[in-house]
Amino acid sequence: MREERPTRDQLRVLIPEERLQARIKELGAQIRADYGDRPITCVGVLKGSFMFMADLVRAIGGDIRCEFLAVSSYHGGTRSTGVVRITEDLRTPIEGQDTLVIEDIIDTGLTLDYLLRSLQVRGPASLKTCCLLDKPAHREVALDSDYVGFSIPDEFVVGYGLDLAERYRNLPHIAVYTP
Ligand code: 5GP
Repeated sequence: MREERPTRDQLRVLIPEERLQARIKELGAQIRADYGDRPITCVGVLKGSFMFMADLVRAIGGDIRCEFLAVSSYHGGTRSTGVVRITEDLRTPIEGQDTLVIEDIIDTGLTLDYLLRSLQVRGPASLKTCCLLDKPAHREVALDSDYVGFSIPDEFVVGYGLDLAERYRNLPHIAVYTP
């Protein structure tokens, strides 16, 4: 049986590369201004944030530590199951450190809420979040990211790190996927 593959016309550019990069530069400058000269421990949530994190830490500049953890919440579909699992944890403690969690997208808020609760108990000096995309329409927990790149409509997006069943992460822009 032939594998069903989405065709090109199911993707529509929502945020072009130039707008993404310009906004990330603004976010970086704002974050660095807020933290002053202090070192920042940036925690990227894999896999979706890998591209955003790479550009954002360069835009922030100064003294930065890069850490990663991985969560699974979608299991390959397009709707959150609400079940969040840390599949790969931080390798070093964040106790006493100004910690900034870097996420690709906040939708229901369940993933970030779970992560923040599990990181807060580790005693960081401060704990903030930076999400590239915010889909406020589906929020299930009262949670807002400290820094947000773009607020977007309630559509399933791919590209710039975000996938559909592991595809499209390498797109340089954000696109809406229509099944
Ligand atoms: P939440 O727990 O806030 O509902 O969802 C957060 C996670 O769900 C994100 O880290 C991301 O992995 C995934 N997610 C939510 N919305 C989208 C979307 O539109 N596209 C993709 N590719 N992933 C999404």
